[in-house]
Amino acid sequence: MKTFHSQELFEQEQAHIPAGTSNPARTFRQVGGRSPIFMRQGKGAYLHDVDGNSYIDYVLAWGPLILGHTHPQVVASLHAQIERGTSFGTPTEQELTLAQMIKKALPSIKMLRFVNSGTEATMAAMELAKVHTRRERFIKFKGCYHGWYGPLLTGSPYRPIENSSGQVLIAEYNDLESVDELLRSYKGEIAGVIVEPVAGNMGVVPPADGFLKGLRDLCDANESLLIFDEVMTGFRVAYGGAQERFSVTPDITCLGKIIGGGLPIGAYGGREDIMESVAPSGSMYQGGTYSGNPLSAAAGIATLHLLENPSMYEQLEHRTKSLCKSIKAHANELDVPLCINQVGAMFCMFFQDGPVTNLGTVQLSDTKAFARFFWEMLERGVYLPPSQFEASHLSVMHTSDDIERTSQAAREALRVVADLHS
Ligand code: PMP
Repeated sequence: MKTFHSQELFEQEQAHIPAGTSNPARTFRQVGGRSPIFMRQGKGAYLHDVDGNSYIDYVLAWGPLILGHTHPQVVASLHAQIERGTSFGTPTEQELTLAQMIKKALPSIKMLRFVNSGTEATMAAMELAKVHTRRERFIKFKGCYHGWYGPLLTGSPYRPIENSSGQVLIAEYNDLESVDELLRSYKGEIAGVIVEPVAGNMGVVPPADGFLKGLRDLCDANESLLIFDEVMTGFRVAYGGAQERFSVTPDITCLGKIIGGGLPIGAYGGREDIMESVAPSGSMYQGGTYSGNPLSAAAGIATLHLLENPSMYEQLEHRTKSLCKSIKAHANELDVPLCINQVGAMFCMFFQDGPVTNLGTVQLSDTKAFARFFWEMLERGVYLPPSQFEASHLSVMHTSDDIERTSQAAREALRVVADLHS
């Protein structure tokens, strides 16, 4: 596989942009890559790079492209909107329609505001919870990522816990006891508990049975708000997100990714009495030049319309399960320790025996084996997230042929990993 052109472009970019890219593809460094791959075009489940290589894509722009690249209906909706205008700085019918669709899908959201990214959504949710509860502190979970906003970075892979200001306290994912302890130690001080209801930023870690329900109960008992960061899981693990899949109702929900159909977006919403704290009815000021812009909304509406059909999710689940099952079978046969966590169309292959239930167990993975696997897959035309600690995703455009090709590639790649071990 030749990637000369990518490397050349990357060399140029490093002079202009720290780490050579503004995109999370920075993580190519984690797998020992000299340069990320510069993509030129996406179509369905496939990406095509600047050197003429093609890949089956399991990154999907880090989650949003559940319909694959350049879905004809999304493209048509965008064309129509571009002709009418990209942003007016006024309310639009598109903003209204998307808000209605989201509310219908996630009944816990009675009112919502659009922003421009997942980071903005979680920042706003935090501010909102502070104003609503008149408390200052939050609990988040080790290994969860809620965007790059300072306080919420604490306890993520990007900022160690020691740097915490004390505003954000860190509990252990899937460990209710650790949450209860913090709630007791800071009685009456915790505004909210923010959680990825399926963790997707330390690889994929599903919530243990009763974990989300337990958080609900603990929040109720302490009059703290339960904030679900569904930026990744919203419209991904079910149409109604993780809250539908696990039947737990949060007070505030953060969304992003899929609701913008591949264009920049975020949203936060919840109960009316909470959302009333947003200005002008309340004192929490929040704004944004592009917030609720009709272009992102048009792509989001087209995407959510297509996803309304439940067979989409059945197919996604079925194909993702069958891919994970066949890769696991190859690993077993070749004696490569592999634990695959999968929820809906999100999955992650951890190079270890598992089970993987929190950051501590995530970190037991053999990252060297993962890196080797990653490059072997890339050589065979499969584009996985370039990090052991990121989620892979399927789109509705991944056919059973694509799954079969990926499984064959994985078999060959795992054989190389097995040879390393022996
Ligand atoms: N929350 C979660 C759960 C995410 O996965 C992400 C992005 N990966 C964010 C927040 C931040 O979203 P954005 O990159 O759009 O700011």
